[in-house]
Amino acid sequence: MRILLVEDDRALGEGIRTALKPEGYTVDWVQDGVSALHALSHESFELCVLDLGLPRMDGLEVLRRLRTTGNALPVLVLTARDATSDRIAGLDAGADDYLIKPFDVAELKARLRALLRRSFGRAQSALEYRGIRLEPDSQQVTYQGTPVNLPRKEFLLLHELLAQPGRVLTRDKLQQVLYGWNEEVESNALEVHVHHLRKKFFPELIRTVRGVGYLVDKA
Ligand code: CA
Repeated sequence: MRILLVEDDRALGEGIRTALKPEGYTVDWVQDGVSALHALSHESFELCVLDLGLPRMDGLEVLRRLRTTGNALPVLVLTARDATSDRIAGLDAGADDYLIKPFDVAELKARLRALLRRSFGRAQSALEYRGIRLEPDSQQVTYQGTPVNLPRKEFLLLHELLAQPGRVLTRDKLQQVLYGWNEEVESNALEVHVHHLRKKFFPELIRTVRGVGYLVDKA
């Protein structure tokens, strides 16, 4: 799961990122509204944690512009204590949930899990492809009825590919899904994951488009 964290307070941003990493999230962090909007329009995320008081463009404006483009990404807004009007404005602008600072990280984690469940329930049903069945919500995968255990990155990669059959996904795009911006990527890591998936399912599952990326053919 890739999260965009938008927070200009360095200590808080660092704290959130550190807390979410062991939960299996890939966290990309930007510290102003303009960078946030840019990231949201050019990259894909499963969630956004958005502070409202931000340099260059405030969080409410970011949220309004995001929703104007029809983007339904689940957004959790962070607001200062007592700023009731902010909270209402945030919800009006299209926030899915909010947390008041200071908050407990355990609560943030619980809220994010709930948001993900809701968003999967809304938009994502099981993906089926040539005997493979992948359930995004429970993260379970079966092949011809038999459960297949996939490490997290293989699951993410398979999910991304099966969600868009017939479409070539570039190496850059796939690496961002798996690693975000900050994590160090070994140069052949993507190839290794693809290799494992072909072995666990069948060799023709993932086609290499030389110099570009990978795709699964339309079923
Ligand atoms: Ca702030």
